[in-house]
Amino acid sequence: MKRLEETHMLLNNKVALITGGGRGIGREIAVIFARNGADIVICDLNTADIDETNRQVEAHQRKALAITCDISCLCEVEQAIKKALDKFKKIDILINNAGITKDNLLLRMTESDWDKVIAVNLKGVFNCTKVISRLMLKQKSGKIVNISSIIGIRGNAGQANYAASKAGIIGFTKSIARELASRGINVNAIAPGFIETGMTAKLSDEIRERMLKEIPLAKFGTTADVAKLALFLASEESNYITGQVIQIDGGMAM
Ligand code: NAP
Repeated sequence: MKRLEETHMLLNNKVALITGGGRGIGREIAVIFARNGADIVICDLNTADIDETNRQVEAHQRKALAITCDISCLCEVEQAIKKALDKFKKIDILINNAGITKDNLLLRMTESDWDKVIAVNLKGVFNCTKVISRLMLKQKSGKIVNISSIIGIRGNAGQANYAASKAGIIGFTKSIARELASRGINVNAIAPGFIETGMTAKLSDEIRERMLKEIPLAKFGTTADVAKLALFLASEESNYITGQVIQIDGGMAM
């Protein structure tokens, strides 16, 4: 049986902006979107990483624009989107993917660890969505996909800041979905479980083994698993879906 993405180019001539696209899940989304006909704007902190993502996008004969931008700063986001519009004239898809962790038990969590995680993971989503939804409202179309986490649904000891930011994304997604629905804009969230990336590589073997025992499908997810779901939610195949949080976690949080 053919895979969904092989049936036709799902994002032909669309322009997608992906935050944190320099590596991990964001890079995989950039590459699968390019393979499906989209031009890609990457906003990320690390220039070397963005250049590698660009190279992989261009290998699929699509245009790529790398912008160094801290999404927690509204003025940097505004500048970045201006650059994207100078090159591409439109943005059809926003993937709010960039995220960080600064884990600790509550009593040991510093104010700065709390503020930083909320600033990047939650305010960053607000910043990018605020600026780009204005364009989408004028276009009367658009797809916004926010990367939350199952930690935002079930919580996790040692991750109160991260869980609060990811739960916040879920409330934000549902509210903005309601605000933008009448203008042809879909807003959904993805809640991944344990996905093999740089973010999870730093966890100890003991935590990894404990996590694995909690996953009914008995394996960790891959960046490709998440990217394929993002592709579906960014494409016209999902036009009747909005305000949803779709878990992709091997059954971990059912
Ligand atoms: P990752 O490998 O750590 O990549 C995150 C990317 O975001 C990096 O390229 C990073 O840039 C960038 N970034 C960090 N802060 C930024 C900022 N202020 N402005 C712009 N870009 C910034 O993470 P990942 O595992 O691919 O995770 C991607 C998303 O999925 C995150 O939102 C994460 O919370 C979520 N998620 C991941 C998992 C998992 O198991 N991996 C599970 C659930 C949810 P630098 O390279 O410069 O640091």
